[in-house]
Amino acid sequence: MLLNRPDLLREQAYVGGEWVGADRTFAIHDPATGAPIANVPDLTAQDMRRAIDAADVAMKGWAAKTAKERALVLRRWFDLMLAHQDDLAAIMTAEQGKPLAEAKGEIVYGASFIEWFAEEGKRVYGDVVPTHAADRRILTLKQPIGVCGAITPWNFPVAMITRKAGPALAAGCAMVLKPAEQTPLSALALAVLAEEAGLPAGLLSVVTTSDAKAIGGEITSNPRIAKISFTGSTEVGKLLMTQCAGTVKKVSLELGGNAPFIVFDDADLDEAVKGAIASKFRNAGQTCVCANRLYVQDAIYERFVERLTQAVAALHVGIGTEPGVDIGPLIDDDALSKVEAHLADALEHGAKVTAGGARHELGGNFFQPTVIAGMTPDMRIATEETFGPLAPIFRFSDEADAIAQANATRFGLAAYFYARDLGRVWRVAEALEYGIVGINTGIISTEVAPFGGVKESGIGREGSRYGIDDYVEIKYLAMAGI
Ligand code: ADP
Repeated sequence: MLLNRPDLLREQAYVGGEWVGADRTFAIHDPATGAPIANVPDLTAQDMRRAIDAADVAMKGWAAKTAKERALVLRRWFDLMLAHQDDLAAIMTAEQGKPLAEAKGEIVYGASFIEWFAEEGKRVYGDVVPTHAADRRILTLKQPIGVCGAITPWNFPVAMITRKAGPALAAGCAMVLKPAEQTPLSALALAVLAEEAGLPAGLLSVVTTSDAKAIGGEITSNPRIAKISFTGSTEVGKLLMTQCAGTVKKVSLELGGNAPFIVFDDADLDEAVKGAIASKFRNAGQTCVCANRLYVQDAIYERFVERLTQAVAALHVGIGTEPGVDIGPLIDDDALSKVEAHLADALEHGAKVTAGGARHELGGNFFQPTVIAGMTPDMRIATEETFGPLAPIFRFSDEADAIAQANATRFGLAAYFYARDLGRVWRVAEALEYGIVGINTGIISTEVAPFGGVKESGIGREGSRYGIDDYVEIKYLAMAGI
C-alpha cells in the first residue's frame, strides 16, 4: 500500500496515550485478495482496564476545559482527517474492501461528525426552571456522563467511530474503543491523527483484540465506565445490554435493520431504480440501512423488475482500488454463505433470478449483484437481514398492504418509499415503524440528522443536535432559602 504518510499504518495499539505492542498479535487481511496487510496487538482485558484507568484520569482535566477549548482540538482532528483522506481511504479499502471512492466518501462523512460535535459541544445548555416555591430556584446542569466504552463494526471502519467519539469528547468525556477485529487499522490511523491534533493522552484509547468477548466483558462490567455505545448485530447488542445491567450503565445501541423499500404506482420509476441501487448496493449491501426488502405495487411491478434488472446488470464488480468499481468483495466467507443461503431459500420457495445469482468469477469473497423477483412473505429474507448484494422484490396491492408488510418485522431502523401523492407521503411516513424514513431518496445518512432505530434496532440517536444527549447527564440543583 502506497501512502503519503506511511506512519498512518500502525501495527501498535494506542492505550492511555502510549503506542504499545504485545507478545501476541493477529493478522489483518485484504478481503479482496485474502493477502495479509498487517499484524496488530492482541490485547487483553487487563490492557482495557489500563485504558479505562487512564481515561478516568485524563477526563478530569478535559471536562474542566471550556467547550471552545475542546472544540479547537476536535477541529484540528477534523482538518487532519480531511488533509489525509487519501491515505485513510487507502487503508480502509485495503482492510474492508469497499471501492476507493466509497472509502473516500466515508472519510469525509466520518470527519463531519467531529466537526459537527466540536460545534455542538458549545451549545449544551442547562435550564432555569420556573420555580414551584417562592424561596427556591431550580436549575439544571448538563455534565459529561463519564468514561465511555465504544465497540464498533467493520462495515464503516471510520464513521462508526467518529460519530461516537465526536459527541463523547465534545461533551467532555473520555472514550475507550474496541474496533472490529477485521478493521482496526482505520481506527489506529484515526488515533495517530487525534494525537497529532493535540488530544490529551488517555482521552481516546484504541484497544485492538481478537478476543471481543473478553474486552466486551471488561467494558461492560468495569464500574468506571458510565456508558457504552455499540454498533453491530442485534444478538451482540442484546448481550452487551444484559451485561451492562450489573453496573446500570447507560447504553446506546445501533443494531440490525431489515429495511423495506416501497415503490408506489405514482412514483418516478427512474428515480426509484436509482434510489434502490444506491440504498441496496452501497458497500456491497453491507450497511444496516441497506434496503433488504423491495416492495413494488402491482401495476408497475413488471416494469420495475425489468429496469432494476438492467441497472444491476450494469454494475461493475472488482477490487476496490480499481477505477470504476461499484461493488467490492464481501467481508468474509460467512457473509457470502449468508447471501447464498437466503438466495437458495427464496428460489426453493418459488422466486426467480433476473440478474446475477451466484458467486462472481473473480472468486474469493466476490458475489454477483443479484435481483430476484416473485418474493413472498414466507421466505427468510422477509424477516432476516441479508447484508449482501441481493435485491429481492416483493409485490403489494395497496397502501395498507404495503405498510403491513413493511412493518412485519422486529427491526425498525430505516425504511424508504417512493410516491408523489402528498397525502400518501404523509400517511405512509407516519405509519412506518422506523427511526428513519427516506422519502423519494435511497440515501439518508448525514451528520446533521438523527440516526437510530426503534424496536429491536436499537436505543438512542447518533448525529444531529440530539447525538450529544447520550453523553451528558442532567443534574438538578434545588436552591432553597432565597
Ligand atoms: P458483525 O456480525 O457485523 O461482525 P458483531 O455484532 O459480531 O457484528 O460485531 C460488531 C462488534 O461487536 C465488533 O467489534 C465485534 O468484535 C464486537 N463483538 C462481537 N462479539 C462480542 C462480544 N461478545 N462482546 C463484545 N463485543 C463483541
